[in-house]
Amino acid sequence: MQKIAIIGGSIAGNAMGLVLSRLGFDVTIYERSGAQLDDRGVGICIPKDLRNMLVQNDIFDSDAKYIEIIDRQFIVSDAKRNADVFWQQPVNVIAHNWSEIYTQLYKRLPKGIYRQDASVAHIEQDQNKVILSLTNGQTVEADWLFCCDGVNSLGRTTLFPQSKLNEAPYIAWRGVIAKKHVSEPPLFDRLNYFCYEYGHVVTYYIPKQDGSVDLNWVLYQKVNQAHKNKLLNTNNSNEVTSLAARELQPMHFEELKKLANMMPEVFAKVILDTPKPFIQNIFDTQVPALKKGRICLSGDAAFISRPHTASGATKALQSALILFQQLQENQHDLDRATEQWAKIQYDNERKLYELGKIFGHALVTDTPEWQLMNQEKMDQWWVDIMQNQQWYAYEAQK
Ligand SMILES: Cc1cc2nc3c(=O)[nH]c(=O)nc-3n(C[C@H](O)[C@H](O)[C@H](O)COP(=O)(O)OP(=O)(O)OC[C@H]3O[C@@H](n4cnc5c(N)ncnc54)[C@H](O)[C@@H]3O)c2cc1C
Repeated sequence: MQKIAIIGGSIAGNAMGLVLSRLGFDVTIYERSGAQLDDRGVGICIPKDLRNMLVQNDIFDSDAKYIEIIDRQFIVSDAKRNADVFWQQPVNVIAHNWSEIYTQLYKRLPKGIYRQDASVAHIEQDQNKVILSLTNGQTVEADWLFCCDGVNSLGRTTLFPQSKLNEAPYIAWRGVIAKKHVSEPPLFDRLNYFCYEYGHVVTYYIPKQDGSVDLNWVLYQKVNQAHKNKLLNTNNSNEVTSLAARELQPMHFEELKKLANMMPEVFAKVILDTPKPFIQNIFDTQVPALKKGRICLSGDAAFISRPHTASGATKALQSALILFQQLQENQHDLDRATEQWAKIQYDNERKLYELGKIFGHALVTDTPEWQLMNQEKMDQWWVDIMQNQQWYAYEAQK
């Protein structure tokens, strides 16, 4: 039986681990974290078709909690700080809690294949095998390696040392607040984009596993380099992917208050009442290939698309499903199947990478003057942005 090592036990790694073990491979997932990763609590949107496929393939339970969102609206603040809706558009996305997606995958993994507290420090390969060195001194051999180790992937830098993370000139503040603490809850039934001078705030409801509902929000703030360094407590923001809630200081809450004061009061209240906001630095990157020798890249270890496309988890899940299909079509021959997978998935990832940049410009760094926009102008704005691009949330409407 072929031995497969996977680095990273989050969405991409667990999805790969699940499909490969179902096909009979001897899989081990090496996860750096010593604790189970089930408490991130933020929202993840995926396409409806993908959810259906996950249920059909027994990767998700049919009753795994989700909220279907069928339209989005763009909002500015009027002079009295009321929410003024200036554009509505049909979309179709399925919102989940990150923990639900993680748990659905994790609970289906065969017992004993997931190793916590197993951090990989070094990777090498020859024609016949891959060798992993763990930080605890252990050395492991495998026939194939899937690197699903996220934004700062060791796999990516080992295969492609020239690849660099490109930093967007903005950051995202993120948080969740219980729906019961939201004033005017019906306003938030849609996917909302509140647009302001430094970017926008996206909000949508996500279900919790206990049956209650949270409002998930992501606030993009355009910042210059000096200000970014200050907010991320660093001299080199390129090295900081996020700042956890426990790391935020009074100056961060002052900053958040300043931004909230530019919003309609109902949005400001959501932001300021959120118990544990945190900050994410925004990156993207591309790689020349998804496979080199016996090593493959999946999830954020491969391409990273800016979060505006809401596709990071989606592409990680699709990557695993495409490999599953290719392995079935190629009689479980990993060499042939990964060749095919790498071609198909590369094209998907490259398109998302491009779309993430386009949305970043259109929604944060190079926006129209939102106060001057209306339904008709926005319809044209959307046509101009999309040109030959496709986005699942919108395509699903056609
Ligand atoms: C603001 C924001 C909003 C987003 N919204 C959405 C959305 O709506 N929809 C969507 O689809 N996606 C969204 N995403 C993207 C999505 O969260 C990620 O793309 C997705 O979770 C990537 O999963 P992953 O498994 O590839 O990486 P990660 O979740 O980062 O997991 C990598 C794992 O590898 C482990 N690891 C790393 N290095 C090592 C090592 N050397 N040894 C062992 N283990 C290691 C880590 O501990 C971690 O558990 C969003 C992202 C952001 C920033």
